[in-house]
Amino acid sequence: MTNHQVRLAARPVGLPKRSDWQFTQEAVPEPKDGELVVQVQYISLDPAMRGWMNDAKSYIRPVGIGEVMRAGAAGKVVKSRHEKFREGDIVTGGFGVQEFALSDGKGVNKVDTRLVKLPTYLGTLGMPGLTAYFGLLDIGKPQPGQTVVVSGAAGAVGSVVGQIARIKGCRTVGLAGGADKCRLLVEEFGFDAAIDYKREDVKAALRQHCPDGIDVYFDNVGADHLDAALVMLNDHGRVAMCGAIATYNATEPPVGPSNLGLVVSKRLTLRGFIIVDHQDRLADMVADVSAWLREGKIAHAETIVDGLDRAPGAFIDLLRGANTGKMLVRL
Ligand code: NDP
Repeated sequence: MTNHQVRLAARPVGLPKRSDWQFTQEAVPEPKDGELVVQVQYISLDPAMRGWMNDAKSYIRPVGIGEVMRAGAAGKVVKSRHEKFREGDIVTGGFGVQEFALSDGKGVNKVDTRLVKLPTYLGTLGMPGLTAYFGLLDIGKPQPGQTVVVSGAAGAVGSVVGQIARIKGCRTVGLAGGADKCRLLVEEFGFDAAIDYKREDVKAALRQHCPDGIDVYFDNVGADHLDAALVMLNDHGRVAMCGAIATYNATEPPVGPSNLGLVVSKRLTLRGFIIVDHQDRLADMVADVSAWLREGKIAHAETIVDGLDRAPGAFIDLLRGANTGKMLVRL
């Protein structure tokens, strides 16, 4: 059997191009003692993958040129010489952008698809769900009646942030690109208000939709969105610094936010985090979010693209905002 793969071919400058990856094929590997082979069914495309393509020091080493592109994924165990996994188990793990992955079992989790469909384990009930849960609850500490604003609100993380904030009794305002996404935020995800940052003046819209100011800002975008939120934050407000997607393809160092002095005068707390450090909250997230899913309190969305050959294009599309909810490739 043949394993088709997507490997990093070049370090992108600005928005990646398809030629930054190459397609390769090789025999499906045989597991040794303590190893398993997974047939990948869904690949998770995440904005963080853009950072991993740069040759820069970060929280994780860059993907090397010629290496299979790193990615979270879900699939079926097809061969196992690992004591914890059996053929037929459905699992998630860091299997990469390829059809078959050899694994030593580290970071591999069995999931129950009788309860929740497999794609959701890569989205609302997976890493993006945990990111939303930890960032909002542990950093944002929202109180009932407070106002929570989230940028990138129609995406995998943002859509969960807004819905948990609503469940916690907060006024929720989301920023997203385009009228369709904004409609979805209000009608599907239950936000109190949505701001189309591509069409509206973000500062004026935040003033309109946050009459009592902002208590928690969950930042997925950085740059001008963070700048605008800082103006509106109330004294002792909290900012969960989750991502800064507006800057990921920048070829020059980003300017601003221009008003960080407000952090002092308003006694704000801004805290960055990387979710891999907070796996101790996974069990709590799974318990709460799966209950909310079961009770119909949380809606989830996925944008699914078919075929390994479409993975590079789908990743570029993710960075351009083509997705609603979690962006996935189905094999
Ligand atoms: P999304 O599903 O939100 O997809 C990315 C979205 O970003 C696009 O759909 C697009 O939506 C938006 N976007 C792209 N460019 C811009 C821009 N210039 N300005 C504003 N919005 C833009 O991705 P995720 O939910 O997976 O990730 C959201 C954020 O969370 C990212 O910054 C990511 O890096 C971060 N993250 C951080 C983690 C951590 O551990 N700290 C873990 C997981 C994610 P639109 O059409 O609305 O523009």
